[in-house]
Amino acid sequence: MSNNCNSGCNCNDEKNNDKSTKDEFIATPHELSNIKKVIGVVSGKGGVGKSLVTSLLAVNTKKKGYNSAILDADITGPSIPKAFGIKDKVTGNEFGLFPNKSKSGIQIMSTNLLLDNDTDPVVWRGPILANTVKQFWSDVIWHDVDFMFIDMPPGTGDVPLTVFQSISIDGIIIVTSPQELVSMIVSKAVKMAEMMKIPIIGLIENMSYFKCPDCDKIHNIFGDGQVEKTSEKYNIEFLGKIPIDPKISNLCDQGTIESYENNFLNKAVEKIEQINRLKKEDLSMIKIAVASENENVTEHFGHCKNFNIFEIENNQITKTSSIDNPGHKPGFLPKFLNEKGVNIIISGGMGKSAIDIFNQNSIKVITGAVGNAKSIVEEYLKGSLKSTNSVCHEHKHHDDCEG
Ligand code: ADP
Repeated sequence: MSNNCNSGCNCNDEKNNDKSTKDEFIATPHELSNIKKVIGVVSGKGGVGKSLVTSLLAVNTKKKGYNSAILDADITGPSIPKAFGIKDKVTGNEFGLFPNKSKSGIQIMSTNLLLDNDTDPVVWRGPILANTVKQFWSDVIWHDVDFMFIDMPPGTGDVPLTVFQSISIDGIIIVTSPQELVSMIVSKAVKMAEMMKIPIIGLIENMSYFKCPDCDKIHNIFGDGQVEKTSEKYNIEFLGKIPIDPKISNLCDQGTIESYENNFLNKAVEKIEQINRLKKEDLSMIKIAVASENENVTEHFGHCKNFNIFEIENNQITKTSSIDNPGHKPGFLPKFLNEKGVNIIISGGMGKSAIDIFNQNSIKVITGAVGNAKSIVEEYLKGSLKSTNSVCHEHKHHDDCEG
């Protein structure tokens, strides 16, 4: 986090020179804090598992060796300390407050850790709530944090908006459950993120299905596929599904969520690790590469003539360029395009091994496209381009498509 102003007004902060709505209100973190990346976790309403996802992201990044922290901004329903079994109140000295630490060392700050009795209801009004969150940012000394996850107040109303305005957030993760009006919630979250100029990292579906413990059969209790379809419609990366698991609620109740072994959020954690390597400007920009023969999409990825590159900001093409195909060697092109910062690749056909490598690098692959490269990208931005998921393994160009 870069904040150079000592007066707290951010007047000489480089970021503040661009007069975005957001930066005018941003609070300065405590001068003794060191926080690298801040990720807001949002949901349309309470009870969908936002706090659970926040907790598991902190736990899973901690397990990978990062210093993680949770700022519990869900002031009226603070469930984080309970899930981690933290009862001790917050301490401090003349310089500021210290967050509590979980068993594995995750730094945590929540209103529950300030109240005398953690069952006391918090009935403060919006501005006071937002101010409290601001203080969690400004008055708490966060020690050497790689990833801070903010459990945002639910919804897209005033309180989450003020929190967004107060804290320098690098990206948001949206949590939905399949029984919600997913499309409406996602569209609201997208608008909020656009207003605040915060990139959306991806979408996570909680309470996605139930796996029968006796026969392993999967039951899609609230229906199937809506959340994934919505993420496609809004060009938001789908980062994973968490099933309904009675063990989760038991562990949260017992304060031992850190012991929950899972791989549901592996993709989300990988994505977060990538963010760590990127600058904020890179995050809000999408780069699409279209494997082409001059202006048109090619049928055979590996042997395309050139890649038409489209840079996208706020769902609009802002820059177009073309790079020649540097040559066809198995496994080379996915690495080459990844290094060029490409997030999405569009082609007519592609071999399975190339698709796998792209997926491992969190690059989205769209196959089956035909026609003019720019028109195809415009179709994609409108949400009307669908991948046929066609893999080249049967026709004579199989090797050419491997990339
Ligand atoms: P939110 O933060 O969106 O209000 P929480 O994460 O606090 O929601 O979850 C609400 C309740 O549902 C908690 O008691 C939690 O333990 C439980 N819960 C959340 N996700 C799951 C799940 N996938 N399986 C079982 N219980 C869950």
